[in-house]
Parts: sequence; structure tokens; C-alpha cells
Amino acid sequence: MPSVLVVGSSVGGSIAADTLRDLGVETILLERDLNYVKPCGGAVPPRAFTDWNLPQDLIDRKVTIAVVCSPHHYTEFPVASSKPNPETDYIAMVRREKFDRYLRDRAVSKGAELIEGKLERIEVTERGVRAVYEDRRQKTHTLHADAVIGADGAYSTVARSLGLPRLPMAVAYQERIHLPNRLMDYWAERAALYLGDDVSPDLYAWVFPKYDHVAAGIGAGAGRTQHARQLLSNLKHKLRHLLGDGVSLKFEAHHLPMHPRRHLSYDRVALIGDAAGLVQQTSGEGIYWAMRSGEMAARAIAKHLDAPTQANLRRDYDARWWRAYRPTYWFLALLQRISYNSDLQREIFAHMCDDPDVRRLTFDSYLSKHIAPAPWIVQLRITAHWIATAFQEWRRQRRAARPAAAVPSR
Ligand SMILES: Cc1cc2nc3c(=O)[nH]c(=O)nc-3n(C[C@H](O)[C@H](O)[C@H](O)COP(=O)(O)OP(=O)(O)OC[C@H]3O[C@@H](n4cnc5c(N)ncnc54)[C@H](O)[C@@H]3O)c2cc1C
Repeated sequence: MPSVLVVGSSVGGSIAADTLRDLGVETILLERDLNYVKPCGGAVPPRAFTDWNLPQDLIDRKVTIAVVCSPHHYTEFPVASSKPNPETDYIAMVRREKFDRYLRDRAVSKGAELIEGKLERIEVTERGVRAVYEDRRQKTHTLHADAVIGADGAYSTVARSLGLPRLPMAVAYQERIHLPNRLMDYWAERAALYLGDDVSPDLYAWVFPKYDHVAAGIGAGAGRTQHARQLLSNLKHKLRHLLGDGVSLKFEAHHLPMHPRRHLSYDRVALIGDAAGLVQQTSGEGIYWAMRSGEMAARAIAKHLDAPTQANLRRDYDARWWRAYRPTYWFLALLQRISYNSDLQREIFAHMCDDPDVRRLTFDSYLSKHIAPAPWIVQLRITAHWIATAFQEWRRQRRAARPAAAVPSR
């Protein structure tokens, strides 16, 4: 019977395996380390819970207040779409140790065969795929499958076996901090983004609440990764009144791909999630996109199990993916380029978060996972607001940079 090998049993791989089993496909799930916990802020859109029928008890916290803070501006606002609904207007906060285990266990309960082993390489032939992996005792094994889904993250061995180049990467570095109740109360329903050269020169820093602690982290783009430790320490210093008495639980770091791959599919192989570079640049959001691409790739492979050729997979996975999500990736990449890279950009970004149209469009898009349409009158209003803010900020910064006038001596 034809079978599919899914490499990596994190969010993307587990949803791919789950989907394949729903479609009656023999599935092998290969995971390097069953105790591995992916370093992650754990912010998930509520839509993931409805799309994949996930239980609410996976959610540690429901964030209903968003905070954005630039060097000179602080704003906080409710997580609310254009049709406010307390049932669905929130950002779910999960712990990956719990969330990923649930997804993997569900795929296994549907019949996916789980193997703990580290993929060394795959070899694709006309007749199938040969996968070589090492078990925990460093013994080498070989597996045969008809197709492979590469869900093995940013350093994907599947992609490397195909001779694909490494993607441009940022690094995300975070600390989990246990806080006393009085401070945890402040964070109970808040998630905060911090912008500034001192905490994240080209991305952003964050504090996200978890069940009994917070995750405070920073993003650092290529070429700045060696400063990650210092940036996190600056963030903690800046927030000492809100994190001060906390007890450090652990530090976590991982690379984040900063650009999608040109192609997601090859003969008998589909790449998903971080292995395909499907993280959103502005937000670093990758969980939903790994799950969504896992499902879409699994459906395409199941449809073409008798002939999982590059052409068939590109038609039913790549083309459908980009038809659905190209505007989202394009817009968020643009936003990253014009929002985080200088103090002027950061101040404009933070001020624009005061704009009711911007807030509404942001949450409509985040909650639906599609760029929300904006009527031309709204676009005009936002553009006018952006120009006025940019001008005011430019003037303020120019004034601040001007040397104080010399005081004439008597
Ligand atoms: C610090 C940090 C904070 C983040 N915060 C958020 C957030 O708040 N919200 C959000 O949406 N996204 C966030 N992200 C991004 C998110 O974590 C990823 O986009 C997401 O986990 C990608 O899922 P994936 O299934 O593609 O791969 P991964 O989660 O990276 O999983 C890859 C899996 O493959 C396994 N594997 C790797 N190599 C092999 C091999 N050779 N053989 C077998 N198995 C292998 C790994 O053990 C792992 O289980 C964050 C990332 C970082 C680093």
C-alpha cells in the first residue's frame, strides 16, 4: 500500500499526518526527539482551534488587550474585529510542550506510525523515496515511502537532501519568567510588542503571558544574532517594573526563516511550515501557517499518491497556496520593511496603532488569516493619517536632534 513519510512531528507535521490519516493514507511520522519543545512565544489565532477542531483547554491564556510600545509612544487597545465578538476576538496563548503533544497524539490515535529517529538524508528515485535515519542509539535504519512531507523546521534535512539553499534567517531568543501574582495579574490578558534599537533593531521584542509565567523575547535579523543576549537583557531592564521580581525558568532560542522558498514541491516531496520558509515576516507568526500548509500539502499528496510528481504537487499545493495567501505574505513583508528599521518608522507604526481603521483591519486580517479588504475611503483616511504622522514625527525628531542654542554670555 502506498505510504507517506512525514519528517518532524511539531505543529505542521502532526497536522499533515492527521490529514493523511483522515484520507486513509498509510503514514509514518519521524521525529528526532519526542521530548523536544520548540522555542516559541505560543501565540495562535483562535481560528486554528475551529479549523482543526482543537479543544479549548489547550489555551493557557486568552489575550484581549494588545500593547504596542515604541521609544516615544505607548498604546494599548482591545483585540476586536469589525464585528466584535468576545467568543472569537482574542489571541490564544499556548505552551508548545502541551499543544504539540496533543496534535502528535491525535495523529497517532488516528493510525500514524510514530518513529523516534533523526533523518540523515532522503534519496528520491522514480519508484519512491528512500529515507535514512538514526535512532537514539545512533543505529542507522532505512525507510521506504512513496512521498515525503518535509516538516522538519528551519534547518530542514529534507530540503538539504534536495540540494536547496538555506533560507535567510533571523534569530528569536526568549526567556520564560515566573512572576509573582501581582505582576502576573497585569499580564493576564495582555500581550505586548516593543520596538526600538535597544531591544530589536530590525524586528520586535515581546512579552506573552502563559499559564503561570510569561515569555519575554526578542527578534534579531541576520547579522545581528550575536547581540541577542544583550537585546533581551535590555528588554528586561526596560520592563523591570513589570518583570522585576520574576524567577527565570529557562532560555530558548531558534532560527526563524525570513523568506518563503521559491517552490514548495518537488518530485515526491512537499515542504511545509518553517522548512518551506512560510513564516510571516512582520510578526514571526508561523504556527498557523505550518498547520495550514501541512494540511494543504497532505491533501495534494493524497490526491496524487499514484503520481506525486513535481508538476502535480505544484499544481495542487504550491499554486493553491499562493493563490490563497500571496497577498498576505506580500503585504506583511512590505509592512516589515517600512515599520521596524528606524526610529522614524517605529514611531509612525506605533502611532498608526491608535487609528481605529488600522486596528480593525489588523484584527480582521489576523483573525480571518486573509488581508481584510479596505474600501477606498478607508485607504484614503489611513494614507492621510500616515502622511500627517510621518511629518509630525520627522519634525519632532529633527527638533530633538538639533543642538541646543548657545546661551550668549553677558
Ligand atoms: C522564540 C520563537 C518564538 C516564536 N513565537 C511564535 C508565536 O508566538 N506564534 C507563532 O505563530 N509562531 C511563533 N514562532 C514561529 C513558530 O515557532 C514556527 O513557525 C513553527 O513552530 C513552525 O512549525 P513547523 O512544524 O514548521 O516546524 P518546527 O516547529 O520547527 O518543528 C520541526 C520539527 O521537526 C523535527 N526535526 C527537525 N529535524 C529533524 C530530523 N532531521 N529528523 C526528524 N525530525 C526532525 C524537530 O524536532 C521538530 O519537532 C516563534 C519562533 C521562535 C523561535
